[in-house]
Amino acid sequence: MSVFLLIVQLAWTQDLHSRWDELTASEWSKALVQSGRTCILPIGILEKHGPHVPIGSDLIQVREWAARATKKEYAVVFPDYFYGQINEARHQYGTFALPERVVWDLLEATCDEIGRNGFDKIVIINGHGGNPELIRYFIQTRLEKKRSYAVYFFEPPSDSAYRAQMAKLHKSDPETDEHAGERETSSILYLRPDLVKMDSATNESGANQNRLDIPNVYTAIWWYADFPNHYAGEGAKATVELGRLVNEHYIDALVKALKAIKADTRTLELQNEFFNRVKGNP
Ligand SMILES: [Zn+2]
Repeated sequence: MSVFLLIVQLAWTQDLHSRWDELTASEWSKALVQSGRTCILPIGILEKHGPHVPIGSDLIQVREWAARATKKEYAVVFPDYFYGQINEARHQYGTFALPERVVWDLLEATCDEIGRNGFDKIVIINGHGGNPELIRYFIQTRLEKKRSYAVYFFEPPSDSAYRAQMAKLHKSDPETDEHAGERETSSILYLRPDLVKMDSATNESGANQNRLDIPNVYTAIWWYADFPNHYAGEGAKATVELGRLVNEHYIDALVKALKAIKADTRTLELQNEFFNRVKGNP
């Protein structure tokens, strides 16, 4: 690439905002080309995160990850989306739990609308532990009828180097560090320190209450049985350093995944081949 082209491309990239709602309609074609027709759908949730980190912690994290990753590898980012599976938190203030079919229809209609606007690759990133089953089933059922786009679900890897760095910085028991615990509190402390109330972090217990124990059996009430405070771990042990590690690891992995997804032609080829072979097609 010539220096001139490089400068033009750099200027082009810098000019173009990632957020869907910050683009102008006249920039749309440019955004489609620059993104390789790739749109990220960051999915968060609104639910209690212990007594000390904000209701929108999952949304804040996915939005920041998408915003920071797309500065390095351009893609369009769909606006705030905080609709998912969160029935288990309905006993706590701040929870926004829509009826099951609304959640499903909204996700389907949102992807269809993203596709109708010219994107053929939709990358879901997720910040909420109650969503992966929904997202996987949603993606698998995209094979039910032919669509112009493919949906990708990014889930960050955990390599040994990352685990070693994590072990060095981590102060609480990694086994019990989950929702609003040391790791997640550190993440918000790094991204939005203004929203963390560290002096409240020990006002409630984040210990597993083990109120239900039937081996090898899944029930809907399991999370409520274990963590009725919507707090799992020790947020009081959070540090900015751990937050930086967690975020940089995620963002690096997302940048790599975006590069691979933008270069990918195989998924859509195979998807189209599959639909052409489905029995009973006209
Ligand atoms: Zn969370």
